[in-house]
Amino acid sequence: MNYICDICKGYTAQPLCVRVSEEKVKTEEDRIEINCCKKCGNEIFYKVKNECRGMDIEKTLNHLGVNYPH
Ligand SMILES: [Zn+2]
Repeated sequence: MNYICDICKGYTAQPLCVRVSEEKVKTEEDRIEINCCKKCGNEIFYKVKNECRGMDIEKTLNHLGVNYPH
């Protein structure tokens, strides 16, 4: 089964799931899961880890260039 990458909108058979959460997570809703292809997933994972420290979810998504319904 093919999935659509949330980032590049391309098809991928093995999506990665990248979780974005705020440091003070209160509920499950404070967490966002992005399903994406391996290439995008690796980029996002790297950015979140290295560039988005301390950002809230909205800022993080903006930084990643992800327009995610929230
Ligand atoms: Zn992708």
